[in-house]
Amino acid sequence: CKIDYQAPADLLKERIVLVTGAGDGIGRAASLAFARHGATVILLGRTLSKLEKVYDEIEAAGLPQPAIFPLNFEGATLKDYHDMAETLDKEFGRLDGVLHNAGLLGNITPFVQYDPALWEQVMQVNLNGPIWMTQALMPLLEASKDASVVFTSSGVGRKGRAYWGAYSVSKFATEGFMEVLADEVEHRGNIRVNSLNPGATRTRMRASAYPGEDPETLLTPEAIMPTYLWLMGPDSRGHNGERFDAQPPR
Ligand code: NDP
Repeated sequence: CKIDYQAPADLLKERIVLVTGAGDGIGRAASLAFARHGATVILLGRTLSKLEKVYDEIEAAGLPQPAIFPLNFEGATLKDYHDMAETLDKEFGRLDGVLHNAGLLGNITPFVQYDPALWEQVMQVNLNGPIWMTQALMPLLEASKDASVVFTSSGVGRKGRAYWGAYSVSKFATEGFMEVLADEVEHRGNIRVNSLNPGATRTRMRASAYPGEDPETLLTPEAIMPTYLWLMGPDSRGHNGERFDAQPPR
């Protein structure tokens, strides 16, 4: 946990960073934080209007001009990921970071009642979509001098908990994929792959998982950004295949 990390203002200068689920919650805060530290941010998400709002905020603040990439992990095909890689290649020629942040909670319900179609949906959005997107983006990451790939985990991606179903399983699998990919890129030296558990954070998803909880008791997405910045920037060089937490245990 690097919650006390103080990122230099130019931490991500000249870096091209893709953020998924950039329109809301933690992804929105990360996009703004990365842009404030000099990154050109590619805002990916499924709701164009939300992405446009983040785009406008970044532009109004006079930060590096971002790009918008509307994509829904539920319906996206391999062709979409390859078209995306081609577009990014033409525009930027490389990628210096990916924050895999988009996520779907699904239902909090006893396993025996879990709807199989919803299970598949959660696995698609949280795991399979991001995996095939990563495959298409590998050449762009390989073209970077120093690239950081960050997968978003969860407490239930490290210890299973009753009723968390597909969400928990998708996060465990995300941690597994992170380790596989990290081991494969280890010899290259220019790509690191790690996972980050944001911890309880004041967002729409947290409120739907814990409807009885007072949001004021939770850290905001902005408050957990130090670890995100540390992991995305060069100060985390040499860390590969590791699991991080964005805040101390509550
Ligand atoms: P939010 O629900 O606020 O944000 C999730 C983001 O993912 C939204 O921008 C959403 O888009 C996007 N998204 C959802 N489905 C899709 C899809 N099919 N295709 C593309 N984008 C999609 O949640 P958080 O900010 O809280 O969560 C961010 C990450 O952090 C998730 O991976 C979550 O699992 C993880 N996490 C969060 C915790 C918390 O306490 N908040 C704790 C542990 C982990 P749209 O806005 O258009 O719906």
